[in-house]
Amino acid sequence: MTEDHRRPAQYTSLRDDRLRGWLGTTVRSYSPALGPILADHGIDRPRRATLEALRALPVVPVDDLGDGHRHVLEPGVEGFGRSAALSLQVRFLLADVVGRRDDFARRHIDPRFKPILWTQEPTMHGTRFVANTATDLDRLATLGRRAWATSGVRADDRVLLVDDGSAGTVHRQMIEGCRNAGIAVLIARIDDAAALMRTARPTVVAGPVDVVASLSSSFGPSVRSICVDVGDEPDLVLDADLPVARWWAPPAARAAWVGCPGGAGFHTWPEDELAEIVDGSLVWSAVGWHGSVWLRVDTGVLATIDDAACPSCDRTTLRVLVGDPS
Ligand SMILES: [Zn+2]
Repeated sequence: MTEDHRRPAQYTSLRDDRLRGWLGTTVRSYSPALGPILADHGIDRPRRATLEALRALPVVPVDDLGDGHRHVLEPGVEGFGRSAALSLQVRFLLADVVGRRDDFARRHIDPRFKPILWTQEPTMHGTRFVANTATDLDRLATLGRRAWATSGVRADDRVLLVDDGSAGTVHRQMIEGCRNAGIAVLIARIDDAAALMRTARPTVVAGPVDVVASLSSSFGPSVRSICVDVGDEPDLVLDADLPVARWWAPPAARAAWVGCPGGAGFHTWPEDELAEIVDGSLVWSAVGWHGSVWLRVDTGVLATIDDAACPSCDRTTLRVLVGDPS
């Protein structure tokens, strides 16, 4: 059984395990924006950090995140000494005694907490910054590998990735995912893409919807297509004849979802996030991420959830179908 074919109860249990320490201690202690809200709702220790408690938190419109700076975890070294697991506290104190606190921080605190990559995500009202730590990038690489597999791309494929110029989360996830999966990728500027299709002879072309649609029409069915939807909602008007997988990251989500070829809706990452529908609208929460952390963000995207196994690819990861159901 692969990580995308677990039983629903296994996803739930993995997510619940992650929630406990992360929400009850890490976010509670280190998030300037969320710490006080969690305390107000009684989420002040791991055993109270349950899914039910998370679902009871207020829903926040995505625009209220502003430029995102307030939502970056800030573990002061002193706070870390108080809040970390006991074994780590002891080592921290020992490192302090022998004058190796900086070294300790670099090895044990920085990978999880120091933002090493900031991306900018365009919003209706400017830019939202997203902070990624080293552990976040590891996770993005894993989700990138799973996303390529969901797209039907294997290690013996050659991918031509048309750079959309965003340098955002989805682009990063694609590149890290290729590395993680051992897939060769050539990154092309839009102007060079058609020429490179002839010389590099990729088996897969990935990039913005309009670019990929035009490249696919000139190169035929021997090249599979992957469309990246940028923007708050996926482009639902797409040539149904394209043999296509779709990547799309909802507003505020930390990693893109994938619509598998021939399937309906987008496969989500049940252990790494919580996707809910509240009053018809998609509400997104981080689970286990560091750097930028936000919870129960109303994306403003009308959607429904299908938790049945995918009729197209058999994956059991929860799917989100975008659009007004009525
Ligand atoms: Zn599927």
